[in-house]
Amino acid sequence: MFEAIRRWRRSRILASAAIPEPLWREALEALPFLAVYTEAELRRLRERVVLFLSDKSIVGARGFEVTPLMRVMISIQACVLTLNLDQRLYDGWENIIVYPDEFVTDLEYEDDVGVVHRRTEPLAGEAMPGGPVVLSWPDVEASGDWSSSGMNLVIHEFAHKIDMRSGEANGCPPLPAEMSARKWQKTMAGAYEHFLARVQDGEETAIDPYAADSPAEFFAVLSEVFFAEPTLLQTEYAAVYQLFTWFYRQDPASRTELLLEQ
Ligand SMILES: [Zn+2]
Repeated sequence: MFEAIRRWRRSRILASAAIPEPLWREALEALPFLAVYTEAELRRLRERVVLFLSDKSIVGARGFEVTPLMRVMISIQACVLTLNLDQRLYDGWENIIVYPDEFVTDLEYEDDVGVVHRRTEPLAGEAMPGGPVVLSWPDVEASGDWSSSGMNLVIHEFAHKIDMRSGEANGCPPLPAEMSARKWQKTMAGAYEHFLARVQDGEETAIDPYAADSPAEFFAVLSEVFFAEPTLLQTEYAAVYQLFTWFYRQDPASRTELLLEQ
């Protein structure tokens, strides 16, 4: 019954909230890493984006005006991660807040020994457990082109959101039944230890050294690389690349699709 309502709602939204073609094209052009996606994938991505936009509200902070192009660019990158997954991975929260620049959140957090801290350093992005995703627009804009920025902020924060579906962000997202948690942990922990040692040795890594911060950041940063510069991940951490092709059901380096029955 609920499934029937969901399908009905979905077809109603798709029919009534289409994205105008020129706006869609402009957003794709601003995100060159999508150039390798097939027409069929882009059509499906567009549907996902329409549904995502009907579910989430994307609002500006500090008087920042979020344009339709910004909305579509943010949504496209969020939906790239779940293109072949269940979009309900993003259920349970509503807002994406966009700042005109880096921001300081007034969030307090308690550490393992119970001391309460308040963060003071400016951030480019943050994903809050059960709460909003917060983004600095100039960093989203810069992320479109990996060759100049070497990062993708939206993919990073939404990888955290997926990770948080199974509790705190810890680098282990909810795995599909056919994937072994042991294999996930072994592969990720091995790669993390290796990367951490390289960063601690002062090596200049092609992958953002921020990935060495924690297993959660390692998962988020490597997800950015997987989608936006897949051959880099394939070269540096082939086992993680392979693991991500199973998890995300995409093979961005070859564009082989590993479709989930829906
Ligand atoms: Zn992060």
